[in-house]
Amino acid sequence: RRQAHICCSSVATAEQVRTGLKRNENIGKLQAGYLFPEIARRRRAHQDKHPDAKVISLGIGDTTEPIPKLIADAMQKAAAGLGTLAGYSGYGAEQGRGELREGICNAFYSSCGRKPHEIFVSDGSKCDIGRLQMMFGCEQRVAVQDPSYPVYVDSSVIMGMTGNYNASTTSFDNIEYMVCQPDNDFFPDLSKVAPTDLIFFCSPNNPTGAAATRQQLTELVAFAKKNGSIIVYDAAYALYISDDNCPKSIFEIPGAEECAIETCSFSKYAGFTGVRLGWTVVPEQLRYADGSPVIADFNRIMTTVFNGASIVAQAGGLACVQPEGLAEMQQLVHFYKENADILRQTFLDMGFKVYGGKNAPYVWVGFPGKPSWDVFADILEKCNIVTTPGSGFGPAGEGFVRASAFGHRKDILEAVERFKKAYGKQR
Ligand code: PLP
Repeated sequence: RRQAHICCSSVATAEQVRTGLKRNENIGKLQAGYLFPEIARRRRAHQDKHPDAKVISLGIGDTTEPIPKLIADAMQKAAAGLGTLAGYSGYGAEQGRGELREGICNAFYSSCGRKPHEIFVSDGSKCDIGRLQMMFGCEQRVAVQDPSYPVYVDSSVIMGMTGNYNASTTSFDNIEYMVCQPDNDFFPDLSKVAPTDLIFFCSPNNPTGAAATRQQLTELVAFAKKNGSIIVYDAAYALYISDDNCPKSIFEIPGAEECAIETCSFSKYAGFTGVRLGWTVVPEQLRYADGSPVIADFNRIMTTVFNGASIVAQAGGLACVQPEGLAEMQQLVHFYKENADILRQTFLDMGFKVYGGKNAPYVWVGFPGKPSWDVFADILEKCNIVTTPGSGFGPAGEGFVRASAFGHRKDILEAVERFKKAYGKQR
């Protein structure tokens, strides 16, 4: 996100020295910029215009609260150890420390048959999505939820899996967009979805906050198996689920081990957005069309372009999966869920159409008929609050904005007062 501060003037002038390299034309297909740098740019412009404004950000989904003590202490100890002869170590296993793989497996997958060697510890889910794309190669056709976390589409574009951006549909050609809106309970009508090789599916979803039910995920698994697809299931917010009817892992669905990979992260569980630690689960039963195991190829990718997660981060991860660490993470998640509840209730009280916020740290607010960027601009102008325009997550996000529940409580409370003042009486 900080890349937004780097001025990338892409216009070549006569004086510029050029190399002989042809630019990857797929990168050229991407739109003006990743959503969040554009938001940051608009925020800076607003702040320049109103230097005294105290801007509150409910925009970028970054965590704000300190890392729980037991977990932070474990990292401190590991970092101090590295400064001693006895505690020093260098490269570790590319797949992660054995006890951490086991700890993650016990903490999150004990009831669904996954095994420690299927868990690849990494520097985060976003990076794993990129590495999965590298593994699958550019020949695959992908489906994404619409709206969805922009990384699935953008990494597919960069890989060359898609056609060009189509300005009239505000979407890329040759991607299957699975529309998820209030009228289908934010779950795609699979009878209308064309078969693809890969299906990116995120539950609870960023940005809508919708968590898929057991019944819906059972349908999704059946759909993938029927078409021979692989689901890349993003469970980055699974710990935010409180509805018993919504699985926390795709592997709770029988048969998913034959058609799904799951990626997850400590980022939103333990405030590790800056520490960087996540994992991806590749079941040993998952096979390519030629019968070869996907896990072997992912192992090859990880050992080739990754050198193992940081020792310090892994020490923190190990603390996360101990009973006390799990309790600390639950507490942190609970805090953000309370924020989500405050935001959700405020918008509901003001008469807005509000979704999400119950099983996720995101509240998805409808402004039917209004362009999301206009709503974003109006909220920024009237409230000095940064939100995220729904259209940045895909064409079906148009007419919505996302409010993130990651914030200090005083900021959330201040934000809701500003919302009420600006919009409360209009409805
Ligand atoms: N997946 C989803 C759905 C996300 O919203 C995010 C971060 O916002 C990530 C993955 C990235 O996670 P990580 O910090 O582990 O790279």
